[in-house]
Amino acid sequence: MDFKEIYCHNCKKILGRYNEKYFSDMKIAEIIKSNHASHIHEGHQIVVRRIARDS
Ligand SMILES: [Zn+2]
Repeated sequence: MDFKEIYCHNCKKILGRYNEKYFSDMKIAEIIKSNHASHIHEGHQIVVRRIARDS
């Protein structure tokens, strides 16, 4: 099972982890906009990383 992880470089924190199967890139972008907008407003660098999990 693969995950998409929303990570903030400035906070050095994982903001959320989502099953790739159910969350498209567009959905992830929406989540960032609606749930993590405060980071964006402060100019934080948010990246989406793909995490492959064993088993
Ligand atoms: Zn942040």
